[in-house]
Amino acid sequence: MKDAFLPLREDLVRTTYASHFVELLDSFTQEADENQALYQLLVDGLGWLCRTNDLQRAARYYELRLLDLVGYRPQLFECVFCGEAIRPQPQFYSPADGGVIRPACGQQHPRAKPISLNALKLLRYMQTIPLRQSRRLN
Ligand SMILES: [Zn+2]
Repeated sequence: MKDAFLPLREDLVRTTYASHFVELLDSFTQEADENQALYQLLVDGLGWLCRTNDLQRAARYYELRLLDLVGYRPQLFECVFCGEAIRPQPQFYSPADGGVIRPACGQQHPRAKPISLNALKLLRYMQTIPLRQSRRLN
């Protein structure tokens, strides 16, 4: 064993987050299906949970990276319906449709929920930068 992730065993909240990480990975993969990138993401994710005090940020970061690696990367830069570039303004978001929907398309779509400009910026930032940099985010 290289790392026992001891902080995860000593803190119930951290244990819960770690369980969330493992359950998510389990639900996106098949038994005995080798995937080194997903394995490394889990190892890194459990390591982040040991070291950070911002568990929610680590979880959102892990979730976005996991979605990327399993082929469900949310589209955050173009409207998922018409392909137009997303402008810096409040938009709509639909997980079922795979990402952001510009206002003109989203108002007609019942599954589209409003997303603030700041939330969208945060998701874009976390989707494109390494975790090391995301720690500097306020
Ligand atoms: Zn559109």
